[in-house]
Amino acid sequence: MATAEIEDIFSQIIERSKVIDPVNTRKWFDDLTAAHFDGGLLKIGCPDNATVEFLRDNCKAAFTRAAQQITGHLVSVDFCLQSGGSPSNRQGQDGELKLHPDYTFTNFVVGPCNRLAHASCVAVSRSPGNTYNPLFLYGSSGLGKTHLLHAVCHETKQHAKMTIQLLSCEEFVNRFISAIEQGNVSGFQRQFRSVDMLVIDDVQFLREREQSQEEFFHTFNTLYQSGRQIILSADCAPVEIPSLEERLISRFTWGLVARIDTPSHDTRVAIVQKKAHLRGIEISEQVADYIAKKAQSNIRQLEGAITTIYALSATIGKPITVELAKAALEDEPERHISITDIIEVVTDYYGVRLSDLQSKKRSQSITLPRQVCMYLARNLTKHSLEEIGGHLGGRDHTTVMHACDKIEDMKKTDHKFKPLLSNLEKQITNPTK
Ligand code: ADP
Ligand code: MG
Repeated sequence: MATAEIEDIFSQIIERSKVIDPVNTRKWFDDLTAAHFDGGLLKIGCPDNATVEFLRDNCKAAFTRAAQQITGHLVSVDFCLQSGGSPSNRQGQDGELKLHPDYTFTNFVVGPCNRLAHASCVAVSRSPGNTYNPLFLYGSSGLGKTHLLHAVCHETKQHAKMTIQLLSCEEFVNRFISAIEQGNVSGFQRQFRSVDMLVIDDVQFLREREQSQEEFFHTFNTLYQSGRQIILSADCAPVEIPSLEERLISRFTWGLVARIDTPSHDTRVAIVQKKAHLRGIEISEQVADYIAKKAQSNIRQLEGAITTIYALSATIGKPITVELAKAALEDEPERHISITDIIEVVTDYYGVRLSDLQSKKRSQSITLPRQVCMYLARNLTKHSLEEIGGHLGGRDHTTVMHACDKIEDMKKTDHKFKPLLSNLEKQITNPTK
């Protein structure tokens, strides 16, 4: 095929894939090139490894479908580095540093809710090991912790040749466990204790994992003593992580602890505009304002709203107006949570049976889960107090009210109880996770 012909087909494939998968569509798709198209294989050239990873992980299916629809042949698709592209820097021995290409400082909107976290991340990336060590970010889910951690790594890579390890705490724990199983703990230790920068996301995962806490403690000490940068994130403050050893809590607070709060309306508007722009969608101020009002609690919701609106506009071929945005969002069915969903998660967590909850038993081990069920049912469903009491052994509405008050009190007085409750809530509202 002539080059011009390949280019033409390629741009059609890109346009089609945007329609097939609007969620993962990015403005920079227009910078991709057809690196090679022969023998049923289309190789798409990308400017850097982060892009290759992003496309492989998120877009392979959509691009393949698009390529097959446009050419009418069973084409397969792969991604590679464009000639002249920049390969990744020196990384941890366990392969490449996987960074999300969108999660950069440029794509991060700074507002009062995250100013300190952002500024400290920028400072650390300019002078790793010398400013805040460790840097500890915390805040509820969906407020940008992972984004900032990736941004620090992107930025650091730009100007320093450093070995960076970025991983979730769950992965750290899993790798540690498999090192034990394979009798290769020293290999594990060498790998983590030799990096220049260690970035661990969601360290609340260390709770109740004593052996991993021990290992983490020694990794921390080794790196810290030799001036290497450590950056951590969690969904709550160090002291609120359930059953985290005192010596770790204290180390986590040696440097800077920065909290991220829920964004204000203005910050949400700016984020909507940034996210839309990133996907190559133009959104008016009014539409951004409307979306920011609809989705208030976390930023993933904002992104979901943009996707829904964009999908509707693409399907019916109309521009994005406030009316269209309303039509798209207001029809969205809310996931229906039943009392049974709540009971399942709570009984599973506390190791009790439904029949216990419905019985007359009044021991603390039964009363607490029963009250937690009542509280969650009150907050997550539209059932009346009577209905909730009815499900839990025919109790009257004053008992349910009392339970809700008691749990509210516990949330305020017992700092370990609040994250536990929000964890249960997450399992109920997001059962797949
Ligand atoms: P967390 O790790 O705190 O749960 P993430 O970092 O995964 O949250 O963020 C969820 C989504 O919200 C990501 O797509 C991220 O890019 C986006 N996001 C969060 N905060 C901001 C911000 N201030 N500016 C732009 N995007 C943001
Ligand atoms: Mg995260």
